[in-house]
Amino acid sequence: MKQQAFAKNKPDATFATLSKEGDYTRLAVNPGIINKHYTPQQFATIATVIGEQGAIKYSASYALLLTVPTACVEAAIQALEAVGLMVVKSGPIVAMRACDFCDGEKMEAALATQLIYESVADTQVPRRVALNVNGCASACYNPTYDDIGLVYQHNSFDIYLGAVPMGKDAQPGELFAKKVPVALVPSVVQAILTNYNKYARASEAFHRFYKRTKHEDFWR
Ligand code: SF4
Repeated sequence: MKQQAFAKNKPDATFATLSKEGDYTRLAVNPGIINKHYTPQQFATIATVIGEQGAIKYSASYALLLTVPTACVEAAIQALEAVGLMVVKSGPIVAMRACDFCDGEKMEAALATQLIYESVADTQVPRRVALNVNGCASACYNPTYDDIGLVYQHNSFDIYLGAVPMGKDAQPGELFAKKVPVALVPSVVQAILTNYNKYARASEAFHRFYKRTKHEDFWR
């Protein structure tokens, strides 16, 4: 078993290697914001749409990255969505993720999470923002290491801002607001994003923007 751990360190095909030979597009897919389980039918569809030459990679972004021939992208998206997969939008938007709510056993904050998603997901921002909602104080999907982290407890959310998510200076976000009632959270997150859109420099990362402006009046 141990031998398998390093048996194939270099993949046969990657987005980079395939793109040297042809025109490929990368799609990020997952089974939804909360659900982390794929079905056999979804995996079979993934295998079909990438074809014999394509590549599948698992990533740190809660999604599988599929390398598909660009000529087939539209048909691939239709086939993936038809089996219940979500194709994640790329670019400078609010990209939302969440914990798995204990595989559906602890769904207290699920409706609130959906309302937050409907309120702010895919909003255009200066640079891609990761918004991570976790359903209890265990916070096991590390929301405090995303740009905006929301941790549910007793009909309210604690809101963390300004994490440096990666690199040698990585650090968790600061507690920005404690025990914000569930009903207010979508508007508070919208206000945070409005500040970011209004006062950030061009392409300024959210954590840099927050660090630079956190003492300004508009945060109050
Ligand atoms: S953060 Fe809480 S609700 Fe979410 S998966 Fe972890 S233990 Fe379950």
